[in-house]
Amino acid sequence: MTTETDDDDAYSFDSKIYYDDDADPTAIAGKTVAVLGYGSQGHAHAQNLDDSGVDVVVGLREDSSSRAAAESDGLRVETPGDAVAAADIVSVLVPDTVQPDVYENAIEPNLEAGDTLQFAHGFNIHYNQIQPPEDVDVTMVAPKSPGHLVRRNYESDEGTPGLLAVYQDVTGEAHDEGLAYAAAIGCARAGVIETSFREETETDLFGEQAVLCGGVTSLVKQGYETLVEAGYSPEMAYFECLNELKLIVDLMYEDGLGGMWQSVSDTAEYGGLTQGDEIVDEHARENMEEVLEQVQNGQFAREWIAENQAGRPSYTQLKTREESHEIEQVGEELRGLFAWAEEDEESDEEKTEVRA
Ligand code: NAD
Ligand code: MG
Repeated sequence: MTTETDDDDAYSFDSKIYYDDDADPTAIAGKTVAVLGYGSQGHAHAQNLDDSGVDVVVGLREDSSSRAAAESDGLRVETPGDAVAAADIVSVLVPDTVQPDVYENAIEPNLEAGDTLQFAHGFNIHYNQIQPPEDVDVTMVAPKSPGHLVRRNYESDEGTPGLLAVYQDVTGEAHDEGLAYAAAIGCARAGVIETSFREETETDLFGEQAVLCGGVTSLVKQGYETLVEAGYSPEMAYFECLNELKLIVDLMYEDGLGGMWQSVSDTAEYGGLTQGDEIVDEHARENMEEVLEQVQNGQFAREWIAENQAGRPSYTQLKTREESHEIEQVGEELRGLFAWAEEDEESDEEKTEVRA
């Protein structure tokens, strides 16, 4: 696996951050971008690029249900192969698990020397599931947010923070072109951090497994179960262990851990400071190190690729188990009874709409 960044650099605070003023729009002007896929990221990149004056062609299968959406958004739609043939920059925004297949069938046969392969996540390049030819540039512009926010923040002039990485630069223009692409989708308004494919892929996988998706849901479920098994009401357990998490995370997001500690009571602060490390203890830390090792040595990637090839048996089973957890039934009921329910329904619709 290719290493682009020294380990020493990984968390250094002098990571380069770029803004609109650093970007040269002429690095993308006059070029055609093929956006493959019209899901979460695809619809946002395509429309933002188009609104920024970049020539865009969306690549979708003949039978894709997204064709109508892309066309009614005023975009030109071709098959993935024809879109790649027409493009200078190929933005690969189909799901990571189908990218190798789309690459083999639609991209590789239509790529020309000097073209750019552009990704929003490094998985397939970093784990060698896509091995690009030596005569193309390979870049990544990865907005740090779901697509509907990338679009909404563009329209509201705010922009979305993003990452920029160059894996292969044969033209000598890969970096400037990537930065111009990032600016054209609105990321350089908020800030674009320079990284590598390796760093983006490994930190992203570790983060979602250990903290964001895996760690947090387990913490929530185990807290809930502990209270309910001790005889407390499921409603109280739901509010305490799931609902209030948002309030705490909002405080951390705005002002860091210190901002959160300052806003909660002294009692919450003392109890949290004394007990936090007892709950998520050295054992959890060792588990995290193991998770990181499996990300770094490719074991997780091999497992996930094999799981997909086998038709996702474990994934389906785990998903069903998660959906049938009591906290989900209790939550659905409670969210229907309280004020924030309407807001939730709206954002659910939005999500379905952009991914349909
Ligand atoms: P998605 O699942 O929302 O959309 C994929 C789209 O690809 C579909 O809407 C469809 O138009 C098309 N598609 C699906 N299967 C296809 C097939 N077999 N052949 C051709 N086209 C097909 O995907 P996404 O979440 O936008 O992810 C795209 C890329 O962006 C991935 O590399 C992902 O890691 C990255 N990314 C996603 C997010 C996010 O929040 N969703 C954030 C940053 C980066
Ligand atoms: Mg992520």
